[in-house]
Amino acid sequence: MIDLRSDTVTKPTPEMRRAMMDAEVGDDVYGEDPTVNRLGMRAAQIMGKEAALFVPTGTMGNTIGVKLHTEHGQEVICESRCHIQNYELSMVAWFAGCLTRSIVGEDGILSWEAIRKEVRMLSPHCAPTGLIEVENTANLAGGTVYPLETLAEIYHGAQSLGLGVHMDGARIFNAATALDVPVNRIAAYADTVMFCLSKGLGAPTGSMLVGPRELMDKGRLLRKRLGGGMRQAGVLAAAGLISLEQMPARLGEDHANAKLLARGLTSIDGITVDESKVHTNILIIDVSATGIAPAEISSRAKNNGLLFNAVGPKHMRLVTHYDASHAQCEEAIEIIRRAVRRADN
Ligand SMILES: *Cc1c(COP(=O)(O)O)cnc(C)c1O
Repeated sequence: MIDLRSDTVTKPTPEMRRAMMDAEVGDDVYGEDPTVNRLGMRAAQIMGKEAALFVPTGTMGNTIGVKLHTEHGQEVICESRCHIQNYELSMVAWFAGCLTRSIVGEDGILSWEAIRKEVRMLSPHCAPTGLIEVENTANLAGGTVYPLETLAEIYHGAQSLGLGVHMDGARIFNAATALDVPVNRIAAYADTVMFCLSKGLGAPTGSMLVGPRELMDKGRLLRKRLGGGMRQAGVLAAAGLISLEQMPARLGEDHANAKLLARGLTSIDGITVDESKVHTNILIIDVSATGIAPAEISSRAKNNGLLFNAVGPKHMRLVTHYDASHAQCEEAIEIIRRAVRRADN
């Protein structure tokens, strides 16, 4: 099976498995797991932040991140297709007690100008804005990347109003690869950043939340409340360390494969994809002109050895990663070509 459903499907490398086997461990709830501590130090260092927190999932990292910046009864400004609003079982409401106030951004990218119009002060009619959240890369917008100037404007604008910025950087290393800048240049424009070890970086599970030490200390308690105190988590952190140190350097291959897919798929009748907008490892294609429902295309492709999913009634998403080779991506194009061929031609 060629699996282009997500980069979450990547399996730990042999080196990660060996490191997990050999990991030095302790009880992380007591702060005594040396491997978790090493991962936290490296993550903070690489991101240019004071401290880090190892969390089992990106959802938990975002949930803690949002809670750290907000009080119950506030609003969180975000983009309409973002993960925290659409795919985290409304944890912003459930845990932080906040509403999301979402804005449609072109290609999933927000601007300070658009955000500023939605910032509210407490009044007899309105809940105040508590936080600005940006997703980089913007997953459901096709893995799009925030330009650094745009992030700088948002961050400085937010600061001028005393507001914090949380970045859902699940794929921040893909953004850094696309911009060809060190990842700390991007992280500098957010107070807290969540990023995933478990996606394109290939760790079996785990994400990091990074930010000021004071917030991360509070975040530790929130992590425990959420059931994320993981004891001998060093076995997971050991794989995480390898993903953090070694895997970012190869993300360019995934981006090249995504471009290859985009180029191949545009040549198929009925499929629309803007090749010029594919900068990372995600592409969203419009299949509506094929006249075949995405679920049907999915199921035909699956019968021919390719997994990829629908997102909405017209669109489908493909995600490249290190467990899908160049050759497999070429094969995927041919499988999709056959899947959308009508019976009458
Ligand atoms: C995957 C993802 C997350 C976190 O997902 P988990 O499955 O909880 O690790 C958060 N934000 C974005 C944009 C993602 O793609």
